Amino acid sequence: MKNLRNLLLFSTLAAAACNSGNRQTSAEDSTAIKAIDSAALAQDISVLASDEFQGRKPFTIGEDKTLEYLTKRFKEIGLQPGNDTSFLQEVPMVEIRSVPEGDLRIAGKTGELKLTYLDQYVAGTKRVQDRVAIDKSEMVFAGFGIVAPEYNWNDYANLDVKGKTVVVMVNDPGFYDSTLFKGKTRTMTYYGRWTYKFEEAARQGAAGILIIHDVLPASYGWPVVRSGWSKPKLDLQTADNNMSRAAIEGWLTQESAKKLFQLAGVPDSVMDQAKHPGFKAVPLGVTASLALKNKTRKSVSHNVAALLPGSERKNEYIIYSAHWDHLGIGEAVRGDSIYNGALDNASGVAGLLQLATAFSKLKEAPKRSILFLALTGEEQGLLGSEYYAAHPIFPVKSTVADINMDVLNFFGRTKDITIIGKGQSDLDDYAAKAAEKQGRYLVPEANPSGGWFFRSDHFNFAKVGIPALYPGSGTKSLAHDSLWAPDHAAAYGRDHYHSPFDQMDPSWELSGMVEDVRFLFDVGVTLSNEDKFPQWKEGSEFKSKR
Ligand SMILES: [Zn+2]
Repeated sequence: MKNLRNLLLFSTLAAAACNSGNRQTSAEDSTAIKAIDSAALAQDISVLASDEFQGRKPFTIGEDKTLEYLTKRFKEIGLQPGNDTSFLQEVPMVEIRSVPEGDLRIAGKTGELKLTYLDQYVAGTKRVQDRVAIDKSEMVFAGFGIVAPEYNWNDYANLDVKGKTVVVMVNDPGFYDSTLFKGKTRTMTYYGRWTYKFEEAARQGAAGILIIHDVLPASYGWPVVRSGWSKPKLDLQTADNNMSRAAIEGWLTQESAKKLFQLAGVPDSVMDQAKHPGFKAVPLGVTASLALKNKTRKSVSHNVAALLPGSERKNEYIIYSAHWDHLGIGEAVRGDSIYNGALDNASGVAGLLQLATAFSKLKEAPKRSILFLALTGEEQGLLGSEYYAAHPIFPVKSTVADINMDVLNFFGRTKDITIIGKGQSDLDDYAAKAAEKQGRYLVPEANPSGGWFFRSDHFNFAKVGIPALYPGSGTKSLAHDSLWAPDHAAAYGRDHYHSPFDQMDPSWELSGMVEDVRFLFDVGVTLSNEDKFPQWKEGSEFKSKR
């Protein structure tokens, strides 16, 4: 009995020694590092992702509970309010719930096409108005809907789309041709993002814009579009109530687009032609009609900000960010309507709390200040970070870096760690050193054509010039075979991501999450004790902003 107990004790210690990873850090640091552990991460995730928090949608009781919990936790940890005397930063938003008055009707010379909401198309609006409509709006196929002088590409060349409805393809030409855009590295540019396409259509004066969905270039299936658009949408409040946006913004299924081209008498090979330079937009000779009734509600959501003041350079800031919000209560799937968002992004917020704990336990306080930001409205279009970047609590110029967490590792330790947008900034070099201390190495994202660097909050910090680090889980499992990590990542994307089944799961191996958060801690500790400002690398689209 005693021997067995000793044996168990020994193996536990041996495992702990293997897990500690950071062999070269000082003793002080290792005390702090050990504060980051799997039980604490699991505890915070299980609270934030519980049904009681109702999927943490802004403006709901889920927001109240989340703010209360995070404020309590940051106080327990001993941090100061990040926004003067408050842990909260108000983010004025507007919620728009759009319901179509009928089908999307597309009329041509030979007949009419009636498309059913959610099954065949989705539509919404950013205009804060009781009703928006397009009525017999001429339709034009405008390729990718991109104006990119630096790539010598203009889908709107010599085209007047005022009052018209443009139909465009998702992603950018580099997805199909390695000589175009960033095709060589299969990296999606911002021009490939649907958010850009809506912005550009508005600049061109279009009344409506519909994006043709396609699984591969979009990197997600129609159910993701459908569930995202079937719920009320949030936006930041703006002075013009978003009247500069197109009245109708939406998506068509691939099937609907083919029916549209058929009605227009245009071969659907036009979508292939649009992938080549020199393509000219094609008027479709058909019109679109659709009206949306909107219920709008202005309200205030909140970012949560907690500060650990620096000991020497307290007017310089390192931000750790993670969005606290998720999708709330939505369309039921197999009887479950609560979108818990356990990995997306209760895990990132748990990481944030663990980082705060670790920093507060450092024997020597960091020289620079650390701001822990739990952001709102990420799922609604990166709104909390957009608001912070436009209304920073601390000056952008004095902000050294943003380190962002969104969906952490749940499948155990890995030999590598992914850097999304690898090659963008000097932060890669800090990350490489921190990874090396753990006996690991950096890899670029496996699917750069998904545009992942534009899909979480660090993007809004990058847009104002703050170097941003956005790591993803590793790809090579330490304890399992080579398919383990990619299979788990794929299964998450297929069966859990943005569905009611992103739930806390006892089968998760949290050792990988622990190691990844410790890795981010190391990066932050190094940055916090330096006086250098990391820069964007040559060729980064954000370099000119710093
Ligand atoms: Zn997320």
